[in-house]
Amino acid sequence: MTDLVSQYQRLKEEIDTSISAVLNNASFINGQQVAQFSEELAHYMDVKHVIPCANGTDALQIAFMALDLPKGSEVITPGFSYAAVAEVCHLLGLKPVFADVDLNTFNILPKEIERLITDKTSAIVPVHLFGQAADMDAITQIAKKHKLKLIEDNAQSIGAFCQVNGQKKMTGTIGDIGTLSFFPSKNLGCYGDGGALCTNDDLLADKIRMIANHGQKRKYHHEIIGVNSRLDTIQAAVLSVKLKHLNSFIEERRNVANQYSSALNQVDGISIPTPALHSTHVYHQYTLLLDEDINRELVMSKLKSEGIPSMVYYPMPIYKQEAYKQHIRIKNSEELCSRVLSLPMGTDMDQEQIEHIITTLIETIRHK
Ligand SMILES: *Cc1c(COP(=O)(O)O)cnc(C)c1O
Repeated sequence: MTDLVSQYQRLKEEIDTSISAVLNNASFINGQQVAQFSEELAHYMDVKHVIPCANGTDALQIAFMALDLPKGSEVITPGFSYAAVAEVCHLLGLKPVFADVDLNTFNILPKEIERLITDKTSAIVPVHLFGQAADMDAITQIAKKHKLKLIEDNAQSIGAFCQVNGQKKMTGTIGDIGTLSFFPSKNLGCYGDGGALCTNDDLLADKIRMIANHGQKRKYHHEIIGVNSRLDTIQAAVLSVKLKHLNSFIEERRNVANQYSSALNQVDGISIPTPALHSTHVYHQYTLLLDEDINRELVMSKLKSEGIPSMVYYPMPIYKQEAYKQHIRIKNSEELCSRVLSLPMGTDMDQEQIEHIITTLIETIRHK
């Protein structure tokens, strides 16, 4: 769905130079580029600590371990999302409790969080889905009021700003910990796997560093139980280059999104969600809603026959997945699973391509 080859061609010189520096001194693990990238990212995000790790799912696991969420406690998270939060909960003996989401922003509803809080709740994990922040103003207040830990899954929304307490803050820097993924297709993606944790808390940062490094500060002195989760130096070298371009990547994505929205806004059969007022949008995905009487499979196969990839993020609420089954129904999450469609989105999309996608989609919907 996103054209990483064209982006690499454009940045080739910078990226190749940066990778070569790593190859030339064979500092594949913990080379100086790792610390350098972490500092650059902390500066970009205006957060005190960025601790790199191996991927976004590890980042969530390390966050839960660092916050010592008690075994058996409940973690409130959206039912309409990627499965990583639920997976990590189960690995650590925590119970994911799925809250419903807003039909317009796709993000977790604060009033649903509040409704689900029990004396077993230990944390709230909003996911900033598709490039927009959840309503962090309301969510931070709920977390504070009920003394709950707050972890932001920011894998999809790096670079988005959110209104909190009268201030503009970057997603991932608001809760106790924010987590990031640098999976290649994410807005800041490397050339393999990568992730990071963000926090403003010094003690927590120390603990996160230890956990990501086998629970040790000094080599062969394992103080707590940890994991092995590192961002390798080549990935850090790629990310350092790409971070410099992140704001312009975001602008390119917004430009595509604006064209989609203005062309598709009045088309019968399609609803374009209204962006949230409390957040900027970095368009990790461009996701629209099809009317219930439109056959989504047919639309997708017509687009495919015209060379246009489209995707359904996500086809099933997490609680319907075999591994995470819960006998609940949450209304908006189920509706979204049956109606959402994500269009191609990324940097380096040319004008002709964007227009082809728009006209093909409109034609397909008209002749449904
Ligand atoms: C991509 C993603 C993750 C996991 O990241 P990995 O780096 O693939 O482990 C977690 N949560 C969300 C919302 C994601 O989109």
